[in-house]
Amino acid sequence: MARAAVPRRLSANRLEWHVATLTGRRRETDSASTLILEVPDWPGHLPGQHVDVKLTAEDGYSTERSYSIANAADGNRVELTVQRVHDGEVSPYLLEGMNIGDPIEIRGPIGGWFVWRDMETDPVVLIGGGSGLVPLMAMIRARAAAGSRVPFRLIYSVRTPADAIYADELRTRVRDDKGLDIAYAYTREAPPEWPGQVGRLGLATVATHSWPPDLMPACFVCGPTGFVETVANILVAQGHEPRKVKTERFGPSGP
Ligand SMILES: Cc1cc2nc3c(=O)[nH]c(=O)nc-3n(C[C@H](O)[C@H](O)[C@H](O)COP(=O)(O)OP(=O)(O)OC[C@H]3O[C@@H](n4cnc5c(N)ncnc54)[C@H](O)[C@@H]3O)c2cc1C
Repeated sequence: MARAAVPRRLSANRLEWHVATLTGRRRETDSASTLILEVPDWPGHLPGQHVDVKLTAEDGYSTERSYSIANAADGNRVELTVQRVHDGEVSPYLLEGMNIGDPIEIRGPIGGWFVWRDMETDPVVLIGGGSGLVPLMAMIRARAAAGSRVPFRLIYSVRTPADAIYADELRTRVRDDKGLDIAYAYTREAPPEWPGQVGRLGLATVATHSWPPDLMPACFVCGPTGFVETVANILVAQGHEPRKVKTERFGPSGP
């Protein structure tokens, strides 16, 4: 009886709303920032999980959106990287309408499928489009925090170099985190003297920069819906087992 009661209580706690406090903000690009939240009684999280954020207006109108957790588990600290959606209801407010010290309601951590656990030993392929990098970055950070040497390959598809979030940190990590490789794909504009082609991520780039299917890698794909579906289809067509291709869809449009 007692054993059965514990998981029920834990899962109920996870779905409770917590009142978090915005304690800091880090600019990532012109249109994306990381919100640093302090969440009392935060139960911890796995890289890949997300939270729901609830905003309530003075007249009682309330709306919710999901945001992936960007940081590796770290006490009561939860970091969310928000990309501004033009004409969006919530993302502009999170980026420009909140002051340090403001409260914000969050619920989570949510999700048990799109997660990487640091005891896993399979090589990992991470493929992100735009802000779809956020949960993949949490995996990269958790790998480093755990001292894991599991080989990770990241393919990051982004419109232009200026749109790339975490660019400085990724540059440092690829130098210091042994076994981490990173390849960029640019859909609109590449850096000067970029050797690759500019355009949507295709079979050739995925095949060149991911692990081959016979290594049975764990594949995580995240980004806008169309991007995720295209990339997941490419991976399966290349021979990756569908159950090893885990996906997270953020929203409607492409990078
Ligand atoms: C599991 C999950 C995790 C997510 N994690 C993140 C994250 O880490 N960072 C992040 O920035 N976003 C993330 N999102 C997307 C986020 O939940 C919102 O959809 C996004 O911030 C837009 O909300 P909004 O209120 O500003 O726009 P809305 O008012 O909902 O939409 C305004 C317009 O933009 C379009 N739109 C809505 N969402 C998107 C989108 N994602 N991309 C492009 N166009 C869109 C709508 O169709 C509409 O036309 C995640 C979504 C899910 C489901």
